[in-house]
Amino acid sequence: MVAFEHEDVLIRRGPRAGLPVIVAIHSTAPGPAIGGCRIWRYAGWTEGVDDALRLSAAMTHKSAVAGLAAGGGKTVVPVPAGAALGPARRRALLLDIGDVIASLDGRYATGPDVGTTSADMAIIGERTAHVFCRPADQGGSGDPSPHTAAGAFAALRAVCARRFGTAALTGRRLAVVGLGNVGGALARMLAAAGAELIVADIDPAKRAFADEIGATWTGPEEAITAPVDVLVPAALGGLLTEEVVPALRCAAIAGPANNQLADPAVADLLHRRGITWVPDYVVSAGGVIGTLGLELHHRTADEARALVSGIEDTVGELLDAAERAGGTPARAAHELARRRLRAAASPDREPAR
Ligand code: NAD
Repeated sequence: MVAFEHEDVLIRRGPRAGLPVIVAIHSTAPGPAIGGCRIWRYAGWTEGVDDALRLSAAMTHKSAVAGLAAGGGKTVVPVPAGAALGPARRRALLLDIGDVIASLDGRYATGPDVGTTSADMAIIGERTAHVFCRPADQGGSGDPSPHTAAGAFAALRAVCARRFGTAALTGRRLAVVGLGNVGGALARMLAAAGAELIVADIDPAKRAFADEIGATWTGPEEAITAPVDVLVPAALGGLLTEEVVPALRCAAIAGPANNQLADPAVADLLHRRGITWVPDYVVSAGGVIGTLGLELHHRTADEARALVSGIEDTVGELLDAAERAGGTPARAAHELARRRLRAAASPDREPAR
């Protein structure tokens, strides 16, 4: 049996919407648990519990590697197949979520995730102060995507410095898969930095954006296996399968998409092929770093941007540690997280931002 390492799992049937609200708190050792609110369709509510357990543990690791004084948590609302979630019931659900979070007295704070937006955070905020990313006119820092994109850009600089001897993106060939909130902003930054871009999205309407930034538009399959310096996954998870690894023609992979590996063993397959893969939770930490900097630590916009750019050093150090150990960056990141969590549990804490 897998060890149960979570501090708390709260499952409450929201009285207004009648849906289960699941909050998993994995750890508050480094600081209050943080993690987004996911409203998604699942085959059954227990699958939602599984997801909350997995995602909250991942948040603890993400915060630890990012050097944040925060633990990991997650809210999941499993919406049954066929259940209608019109505007009134959705608002009722968000108020239910707010009450559950309020009952935790600040041990956990939420933010947007798959299926929720900054506007939803404003509704949750009617019931609790422990919510990030409300729209700017309602006291929050708004959509975290620009920070996430900036953090991914910083990660790519570190990857290029280690793999190609210069952090500059000028003339570097990259394939960006997924041109949504994060991928679109990132592609724009890469184009402005002089990178040569191949881009893809399942939404054909994104082609106009590709033209606008001077990128070459192609299909997702072609982009994944294109001969490029760096592949940048910025869509959904599970892109890197055992089957796709032999077909890859890139030197490195680093992007913000969550859960890129179809299976953890794929990290070793990539390593054996000489492809540098930086774990997604390290690359995508800009959103949480920027948001906490602004909303929790009251940093200025410039200071928050500087904190997000720190991902360049984090990734550089991870790649150096992996090189020294002859292992994968995934292993190096895991070990760094474990070290920081041990330090957080001891009285002599490492300074965190
Ligand atoms: P988004 O929904 O705005 O964009 C996703 C884009 O990917 C869409 O344009 C969609 O059409 C495209 N897409 C979907 N499936 C695809 C496929 N198979 N091939 C090509 N394109 C495909 O989402 P986002 O906010 O930009 O997030 C992108 C990724 O980054 C997600 O995995 C998300 O979990 C992760 N992430 C986002 C943030 C954030 O701040 N938004 C933070 C951390 C991690």
